[in-house]
Amino acid sequence: MMQPVAVVGAGPFGLSTAAHLTARGVPVRVFGDPMVSWRDHMPAGMLLKSTPAASSIDAPQQGHRLADYCDAAGIRRLVTDEDIIPIETFIGYGEWFQDRLVPELERVRVVSVDRHKSGGFELKLDSGELFTACAVVVATGLSGLAHLPPELAAAVPDGPAPTGPVSHSSQEHDLTRYAGQDLIVVGAGQSALETAALAAEAGARVRVVSRGRGKVAFGAPPWKQPRLRPESPFGRAWSLWALSHYPHPYRHLPAGVRHYLVRRVLGPLGAWWLRDRFEDKVRVSEIDRIVRADAADGSPRLTVRTQAGHTQELTADHVIAATGYRVDIAAMDFLGHGLRTRLAVSRGAPELGAGYVSSVPGLYFTGLPAAASYGPVMRFVCGTEFASPRLAGHLVAAHGQSRGRGAGR
Ligand SMILES: Cc1cc2nc3c(=O)[nH]c(=O)nc-3n(C[C@H](O)[C@H](O)[C@H](O)COP(=O)(O)OP(=O)(O)OC[C@H]3O[C@@H](n4cnc5c(N)ncnc54)[C@H](O)[C@@H]3O)c2cc1C
Repeated sequence: MMQPVAVVGAGPFGLSTAAHLTARGVPVRVFGDPMVSWRDHMPAGMLLKSTPAASSIDAPQQGHRLADYCDAAGIRRLVTDEDIIPIETFIGYGEWFQDRLVPELERVRVVSVDRHKSGGFELKLDSGELFTACAVVVATGLSGLAHLPPELAAAVPDGPAPTGPVSHSSQEHDLTRYAGQDLIVVGAGQSALETAALAAEAGARVRVVSRGRGKVAFGAPPWKQPRLRPESPFGRAWSLWALSHYPHPYRHLPAGVRHYLVRRVLGPLGAWWLRDRFEDKVRVSEIDRIVRADAADGSPRLTVRTQAGHTQELTADHVIAATGYRVDIAAMDFLGHGLRTRLAVSRGAPELGAGYVSSVPGLYFTGLPAAASYGPVMRFVCGTEFASPRLAGHLVAAHGQSRGRGAGR
């Protein structure tokens, strides 16, 4: 009997990959807490920035798109670019997808993954079980990759926390805790701007602090998108169209270009529908940079350099750093030391070949950790459409070949 493939992660990418492998007859064991990033590490009341057309988890069979879930759940169909998806609907969709296509999911953590002498991998689960897998798919998404800039980290030697002076946005779920308080949100992306709007609506006095001039901005509504450019899941533009429909050649670009595009394309920009909820309700300080942060008396204080070159102090009851995520293999501590040292890595991200395989045969990465190789589309749910069938196809072909070679010896 063929050893199973271990899929580590039960967010959109792990679930989609598992569904594709299962459809090809591959035995899989899938681990993780389904949709936990969405349920626990994003704010309650959030709305998705991606449109319904870009928010389906790819499945090998028809009938599992977001609109199918809406029909099954008896809620209004979300299909046009003007339909905005509440986070609760998306979580319900992911759980429905899991229930139908990945029912054997195991809600346990993978504690370690190491090479096994048989040529496969040995996994240890937090249940204490040890088992071997012929291949491993890492689909751990945002887990453990929250990024806090060093100047903010210096203010919280014990780490960020909602109960301390500084937290990371991934630690914030219920923003009503800041009602009546002065809150600073650092960042200019959708996460920063929506966190700020939600906190202001909950009764906090909110200031967004962002680097650079004119960085706090909002996208154009669907009816104002330029008609003469091709449609893509992210808006109308040639660059977005190419990146979303043709991620294949991306990994052949020079490393510097790939890392630059992952950071810059689809970079910080508020959703069109957020503008009215943000403007006049949230103060904005566009600064040159944060010089230092401290919390000597328990309350955070940011010393900033203004655009005019002056030094200014900003105080609040709490600071939320909506400063994003950084892929760093070193932070994926469930990957054994031996594996991590064998992995070809570029600026912390695994270098992937065709079919999402890493430099360690049998070890695959999908979702955010694959963005440095396959482009910015991998940061979004719609990336499952490209990634999952290719990863599953590669894995089946490689595994079949190695079985064939082994049988011939
Ligand atoms: C605030 C915010 C808003 C966003 N909005 C959008 C949006 O509108 N549209 C969009 O397309 N994308 C959006 N994204 C990006 C979105 O998070 C990703 O597209 C998506 O969640 C990635 O899915 P994933 O499966 O790779 O990982 P995740 O959803 O992060 O899931 C990770 C999984 O890994 C599991 N896991 C981690 N470590 C282990 C372990 N050691 N053992 C077992 N399991 C483990 C977890 O339990 C979890 O199941 C947003 C992100 C943020 C932060």
